[in-house]
Amino acid sequence: MIFLIINIEKLKQENKNSVDYDIEIMPEELEIKDIKVLKPVKVEFSLKIYGEEVIVKGNYKTEVEYQCVRCLENFKTDFKGKFETLFYNEENKEDEETAESYGEGDVFREPIENGKINIVEFVRENMLVEMEQYPICSEDCSGVENFQEYDNKGIAPRWHQLINIIKDNK
Ligand SMILES: [Zn+2]
Repeated sequence: MIFLIINIEKLKQENKNSVDYDIEIMPEELEIKDIKVLKPVKVEFSLKIYGEEVIVKGNYKTEVEYQCVRCLENFKTDFKGKFETLFYNEENKEDEETAESYGEGDVFREPIENGKINIVEFVRENMLVEMEQYPICSEDCSGVENFQEYDNKGIAPRWHQLINIIKDNK
């Protein structure tokens, strides 16, 4: 998967300071274990090189399968997100100061490793952060009510906790 690892030094040598990418990452390449990624992840992004710094900005979309925390049924849903990250050269402290000021702290920052940016790893990290912690199949899902019925019949303590979390999120 060479083409998903972007070689910054090579781009610089070729004088490509701004490049647009439109790629697809196969679910198995992402190695996300907590949810099932059902379709290739479409990723569109631009990469701009400013000296020792690189701004990567774009979005991704795919379809995933979650398990509903209320009714425990699996369901499919769109999964998309945006990213804007400043990659900086770890060895260059002066540039790091410049990097601090970009986006006034709203922009994520990551070091460039060995002059390369691994887009698969980058998208994977973004997806893990954006993943639903308490997915529900629909706002109307009546799973909670069912749980409460069990509540009176001696439900395990860890389910009490889960029910409270769901209530708080309502
Ligand atoms: Zn549900």
